[in-house]
Amino acid sequence: MRLSQFFLPTLKENPSEAQIVSHRLMLRAGMIRQQAAGIYSWLPLGFRVLKKIEQVVREEQDRFGCQEILMPTIQPADLWRESGRYDDYGKEMLRIRDRSDRDMLYGPTNEEMVTDIFRSSVKSYKQLPQLLYHIQWKFRDEVRPRFGVMRGREFLMKDAYSFDIDYDSARRSYNKFFVCYLSTFARLGLKAVPVKADTGPIGGDLSHEFQILAETGESQVYVDPRLLELDTEARQLGPDDDLAAFVDRVTGLYAAADEMHDAASCPVPAAELQTRRGIEVGHIFYFGSKYSAPMGATVAGPDGTPRPVEMGSYGIGVSRLAGAIIEASHDDAGIIWPDAVAPFDVGLINLKPGDATCDAVAQDLYQRFHNAGLDPLYDDRDERAGAKFAEMDLIGLPWQVVIGPRGAANGVAEIKRRATGEKIELPLDAVVARIKG
Ligand code: ATP
Ligand code: MG
Repeated sequence: MRLSQFFLPTLKENPSEAQIVSHRLMLRAGMIRQQAAGIYSWLPLGFRVLKKIEQVVREEQDRFGCQEILMPTIQPADLWRESGRYDDYGKEMLRIRDRSDRDMLYGPTNEEMVTDIFRSSVKSYKQLPQLLYHIQWKFRDEVRPRFGVMRGREFLMKDAYSFDIDYDSARRSYNKFFVCYLSTFARLGLKAVPVKADTGPIGGDLSHEFQILAETGESQVYVDPRLLELDTEARQLGPDDDLAAFVDRVTGLYAAADEMHDAASCPVPAAELQTRRGIEVGHIFYFGSKYSAPMGATVAGPDGTPRPVEMGSYGIGVSRLAGAIIEASHDDAGIIWPDAVAPFDVGLINLKPGDATCDAVAQDLYQRFHNAGLDPLYDDRDERAGAKFAEMDLIGLPWQVVIGPRGAANGVAEIKRRATGEKIELPLDAVVARIKG
């Protein structure tokens, strides 16, 4: 993509409405535009990031045997009357009436709907377990939408649901998601800590929140440092490994939210315990027959007797992650995208458009990036060098490749790694390999 043609409405000044750094940088980098309180359009740069995050989340769900479906955003109220949540949910639920006066709602979550799908066709334990997920917009009329996409009213969530015949099997499903989440967040370049959680309005028996660590996080967490070293191990585990042993080891390590932490009884010595700030990006629940029993989602066990199916639900805040990643990865100059979610792989800066040598060298590299399967953003605009550097730093692409008249004449380019600021000069022929490697 050529920057001269790219729709990138960046801002020079800090927008006054943004209280936290990710919101500020998303607006300044032209990623999003607010349309109403907590409701955003995603502009090309932001949309690319959102799609990248979504794809990592999807690949990890698929890897653990979860099957993708797509349920609608609009749901009939009657389903929620069956579970009793239509009245319980209160003002967070956006209620709608259609032309025939039927009560509808914009889904804040999908337990009822997926239970309905399940009960209409699955009748025997032989068809279990089933793991289903979708990635769909949700609406919750939050009391205080704020912090940009971190607490929106309309937001994109990956929500998965598990169906099992008994508790032991349901625990195996829970463990799959537990490990899948650690692996997902590691792939996104984040440090994620599972913290035992209250089950809240979804109800049930067992629940963990996944908090990613960022200095600006909303909540305080106390963590055993060994929890920060699980990335590689989680990424190497698959659904057929002994996940129970791994999960037991991990949940045996200390991690507590502020309100649960008790310094006196904490098993980690004070000198080792880490006090960090966290942002909730995922939440998993096991809740047994909370929905299947009232909604009549039963399956016949080996003895032929029908019983309510055992369920769990598993959420990841896909749009919140776009903000959370920035909270975890930025500097004074702007965003620093982890490679896995960067909107482009590399920014190519032509310092002197119109100069025949610069144009030819930049155009050639641009083509070579494409040929190598890389996605470049080519700054071909006639702008001051300082403005080009500042904008490239702001939008945070992992690599910058700078072509100037002197380098172009000598057959070299300057390469900068955004995360470290490290700069090196390389022969033009070596540039693509360096970035690919
Ligand atoms: P929170 O405690 O932050 O309000 P929640 O516990 O109500 O979230 P869940 O029902 O567990 O949220 O939803 C699963 C995930 O969806 C959360 O972990 C979070 O990442 C994301 N999420 C929830 N509410 C919002 C929101 N208003 N805006 C953006 N993402 C959200
Ligand atoms: Mg939650």
